[in-house]
Amino acid sequence: MKITSSYRNLYLGAVSKKYRLCAALLGLEKVEEGKSCFAYQVKQCTGACIGESSIELHNLQVQTALNFYKVQAWPYQGAIAIKEGDEMIVLNNWSYLETAINEEELYELADSEQGEFDLDIYKLLKKALAGPFKQQVIQLKQIKDINDRRDSW
Ligand SMILES: [Zn+2]
Repeated sequence: MKITSSYRNLYLGAVSKKYRLCAALLGLEKVEEGKSCFAYQVKQCTGACIGESSIELHNLQVQTALNFYKVQAWPYQGAIAIKEGDEMIVLNNWSYLETAINEEELYELADSEQGEFDLDIYKLLKKALAGPFKQQVIQLKQIKDINDRRDSW
């Protein structure tokens, strides 16, 4: 699956928040020339947009942040579920959607949009899905397709 541009923006948004980068310089926010970005007004940007901190330093931080997290494409086709005890944790596009307690809920969640992207969750999930969770992944789309076919018989 390709990382869509909106997904990239979500990711950049999360990065900029975490490192207090400038949303305007990242292209996430349009500002008038000479004006600071909104993040600066709420002290979330160190002021690279208005020359208060160095642009070179800012760009270096952006690069470092991007390299550090290098978001991998979601390796599944749509949402997945991981069984934890009696509950199913539903995930899509590196984000946590919901916990389902029965099959009906599970299928409903399979169609839902991606949740909020969070770098820390991304890191956790990436590790977990490569290791301990790998064998427990249930690909919801596949189950759904099978069920849909069964319904039309
Ligand atoms: Zn700024």
